[in-house]
Amino acid sequence: MNVSLSREGRPLRRTIRAYVGLGANVGDADATLAAAVRTVASLPGIRLCGVSRLYATRPVGVTDQPEFRNAVVAVDVARGDEAEPAALELLVDLKDIERAFGRQDRERWGPREVDLDILVFGRHRLAIDRPLEGRSLDAERDAERAVRRLEVPHRQARERLFVLAPLADLARWLVPPGWPETVERARRRRLAIEGDDAVRPIAVWDPGNDGWLQAAGWS
Ligand code: ATP
Ligand code: CA
Ligand code: CA
Repeated sequence: MNVSLSREGRPLRRTIRAYVGLGANVGDADATLAAAVRTVASLPGIRLCGVSRLYATRPVGVTDQPEFRNAVVAVDVARGDEAEPAALELLVDLKDIERAFGRQDRERWGPREVDLDILVFGRHRLAIDRPLEGRSLDAERDAERAVRRLEVPHRQARERLFVLAPLADLARWLVPPGWPETVERARRRRLAIEGDDAVRPIAVWDPGNDGWLQAAGWS
C-alpha cells in the first residue's frame, strides 16, 4: 500500500482535501502543466488524489494573449492541529514551483509560465496574511498585491469557467465553504455566460505515463 509520509517522515493520518488550479500560456503549456502536476505530487506531505482533464481556455481579463491551458488537481495535505499553517505551507510550496518553472514578473492576468492557485482547502475559509516567501513575485513593484492575503476558497473561482470545468471533473457535487451552490451548478451558470468554446477539454491524465493523453477528436 502506498502510505504517504508527513514532512517529519511519519505516516500521514489527518489530511485535508485540497484542490489546486493550474494554468499556463507561455512556451509548451501542456508539457509545463504535466511537469507541474508531477512536481505537486512529489511535495512532502502531499498525496495526489486526482487530476482533471486538460482544457484549452480563452484568456480572461487580459484577452490579447495566447490561449491558456488549465487543469485542477485534488490533493490530500498532511496537517498538524491547525489548517492555517498547512495552507500557508502549501502556498509557499506552490510559489516555489512557479519560480522553479521560470515564472517571470509580469502583469496580473497576463501571460505566465505557470500559475498555481489554492482553490479549496477542505472545509476551511481562510483569510491569512502571507509570509514574505508566499508573496507575489512582483510584490515589491505593486504594494497592493504585497499586502494581499491568502484567501481560500479562491475569490474568483466561482466566476471562472476555466476553473469550474476542471474542478467539476473532480468534485462536481462539492459545495465549497461560503458558496451558495455546487461546483456543477456554478459551472453550468458560467457555461451559459461564457459559451461552449471558452473552455474545451483536449486531453486526459494518464497515470501510467504521468502525462496527458490527447483524446482523438477533442481538439
Ligand atoms: P488571481 O488571484 O485573480 O487568480 P493571479 O493568480 O494572476 O490572480 P498572482 O500574481 O498569481 O495572481 O497572485 C497574486 C497573489 O494572490 C499571490 O501573491 C498570492 O499570495 C495571493 N493569493 C491569495 N489567495 C490565493 C489563493 N487562494 N491561491 C493562491 N494565491 C493566492
Ligand atoms: Ca490565478
Ligand atoms: Ca496565482
